[in-house]
Amino acid sequence: MDGYAESPERFVPGFERLTTLIANSRRLRVFTGAGVSTLSGIPDFRGAHGVYTDPWHGMDVEDILSLDFFRENPKVFYQWAKDVWFHLEEYQPNIVHKVVAELERKGFSNGVYTQNIDMLHQRAGSKAVYEIHGSPFHNYCTQCGKHFSYEQIAPLVRSDILPVCDQCGGVIKPDIVFYGESLNRSLLERAWEDFGHADLCLVLGSSLTVQPAASLPRLTAQGGGRIVIVNAQPTDQDSFASLRFKDLSQVFVALSRWLETQPDRK
Ligand SMILES: [Zn+2]
Repeated sequence: MDGYAESPERFVPGFERLTTLIANSRRLRVFTGAGVSTLSGIPDFRGAHGVYTDPWHGMDVEDILSLDFFRENPKVFYQWAKDVWFHLEEYQPNIVHKVVAELERKGFSNGVYTQNIDMLHQRAGSKAVYEIHGSPFHNYCTQCGKHFSYEQIAPLVRSDILPVCDQCGGVIKPDIVFYGESLNRSLLERAWEDFGHADLCLVLGSSLTVQPAASLPRLTAQGGGRIVIVNAQPTDQDSFASLRFKDLSQVFVALSRWLETQPDRK
């Protein structure tokens, strides 16, 4: 527990309501943010002194992660990215990733939408992972569009070799949404549809300040669904929530035990 855990007297009644909501739900949707990654030891990209907020060699990381900068200085981008995005196999899925995968496997949810780019949901066994900001699992040649996997690219980046296309020589870019790039439209439309029709929306480790995270729970509420938020800090959407918890570990250790007692739905 990381200091946000509630006393059993406070926690148990809320947790019982949570399991009732999940048991009665037929269209459960899950949304995860940076707080789920930090539980695995991955630095919070946007937190205080995060790898996104502190300058790197005198440069603003927001500039390094802009499309224009990447086109001009791909080598500088990859020097920054090698320590941040190309060592992800060192981190392990945590209890939240595992339970989220189990909710899908047992037929409680249709997968997970995430702001995270660390691929830990997939490694925990989730099949349908909708990565709103993309992931370094996919990489594309900026000239001809040829696809390259994380396994092909990461060893090059870690050896300070600029990854270029073997077909045309174009620079390869990770399929992560950079500043100045728009989010994937069809993915967004799918999220609007999914959360608008959800009868229960679980928000995990997200402060819900950036779009589309900020609007998704509200769509569920507008459609008559319930919202449960588990996040250490208050969020802008707390007033829409039926239940509010602070400690992801506390909730998910308990949820893991509860889920073991539940039969598969499919
Ligand atoms: Zn190419």
